[in-house]
Amino acid sequence: MIGCRCATCQSDDPRDRRWRPSVLITLDDHTRVLVDTATDLRAQALAFGVTRVDAILFTHSHADHILGLDDVRRFNVMQGRAVAGFGDARTVEDIRATFRYMFDPSTPKGGGVPQIDLHPIDGPFELAGQLIQPVPVLHGARTILGFRVGRFAYLTDCSQIPDASWPLLQDLDTLVLDALRHRPHPTHFTVTEAVAAAGRIGARRTFFTHICHDLPHQATCASLPAGMALAYDGLELTLD
Ligand SMILES: [Zn+2]
Ligand SMILES: [Zn+2]
Ligand SMILES: [Zn+2]
Repeated sequence: MIGCRCATCQSDDPRDRRWRPSVLITLDDHTRVLVDTATDLRAQALAFGVTRVDAILFTHSHADHILGLDDVRRFNVMQGRAVAGFGDARTVEDIRATFRYMFDPSTPKGGGVPQIDLHPIDGPFELAGQLIQPVPVLHGARTILGFRVGRFAYLTDCSQIPDASWPLLQDLDTLVLDALRHRPHPTHFTVTEAVAAAGRIGARRTFFTHICHDLPHQATCASLPAGMALAYDGLELTLD
């Protein structure tokens, strides 16, 4: 956190250095699916060697999840085509408003304007033959999307899982779930709430994300039940 002198912010453990939440999923046919265009997208892509993005899934339109969208223009140049983006109707509308210059035909083309084909979604769809299952979750009062791909699910920014979404989370191998901090928060799970939800979902392994500086990596991991850990920037998983 800017200007903070707490133990986590001054830690030497690289896992306590945290960028904004985002994941990249590589499908069996090597299609690269990015979930959210976090504010730090450019730094993340450079740090972790992300050289291709074929599609983007947007969980919601909060600033920390979309403000890196302009840097997608580099992938447009390398791939020679627009990148498809998918989100719920409100998120698509918010992105069009936030990044008006990208979608305004009168914007001069010479300056490297990103080419994004936005598609509103309201249910499961296919990408490169892979079923993408949106999983609606509550983020405070707002319903946003998590995503399930095979036996992997990514639920960032979540304070409650609605009744209709639990069946979409059965038989998971790997779950990534919001766990902001210990103190209650109106729009994010606490660690206790996240552990309870993860226990009910019962994935083989669960990684918590969207964690704040209240949670030092090593000490927090040591306090979690078996099969649960904090995620960290650069974590790579092979998915079943
Ligand atoms: Zn701090
Ligand atoms: Zn949010
Ligand atoms: Zn967020």
